[in-house]
Amino acid sequence: MASLNFINSGSDGNSAILTDSQGNQILLDCGVDYKKTNTYINFKKLSCLLITHYHNDHCKYKKNYELVGVDIYEPDNIKSGELIDIPFWRILPMQLVHNIECFGFLIYSKIDKKKIAYITDTTYIPQISNMDCLVIDTNYDEDIIFEQSSKNAILNNGYIHHLSVQQVVNYLNGLNYKVPKVICSHLSNSGHCDSKKILKMVSKYCDDVHIANKNLIIEI
Ligand SMILES: [Zn+2]
Repeated sequence: MASLNFINSGSDGNSAILTDSQGNQILLDCGVDYKKTNTYINFKKLSCLLITHYHNDHCKYKKNYELVGVDIYEPDNIKSGELIDIPFWRILPMQLVHNIECFGFLIYSKIDKKKIAYITDTTYIPQISNMDCLVIDTNYDEDIIFEQSSKNAILNNGYIHHLSVQQVVNYLNGLNYKVPKVICSHLSNSGHCDSKKILKMVSKYCDDVHIANKNLIIEI
């Protein structure tokens, strides 16, 4: 059984650790304090660090991992559609749409035969078949934004470079299969969403939905 551990998710820092049933690990983004993330990493078993894009909440601690010799796959050295085939994993970078270059990752565990998609900081979701688990940016609720804009109360419009829960639901609805596990990540910290409502909406299209709260550990 593989597992996914969210150290944190949101604009104050993103980092998650994917671990297969033999203990091999991948670190997904490094926007959370190095010392804190460290406590969850077994460096002998860490295959690589994947960086989606160069925004601080995703890459702030990159230097620390470079210094200890971790293999890093990041926008500067990957190409969309060019497979990264390394021991224990096959990783496909996928071009996303954000306000800077950003990649999603489709990760296949050769050990557990599981396919995990990590899609964050985007307004576009690529078509992906047979996912076992989808981690998806679910930053805001269009209804709340609409209410706030009618009151002219939006001070921070960072959300426009992210996905809304409505877009996530439309995507899941358009797939020709049911994704077994969906983890809604990067929820807005500015009151642009309500996690209970997100759970309710997404649960119509998936039987096992979670919010990527701090320290969430999910088995895949
Ligand atoms: Zn970003």
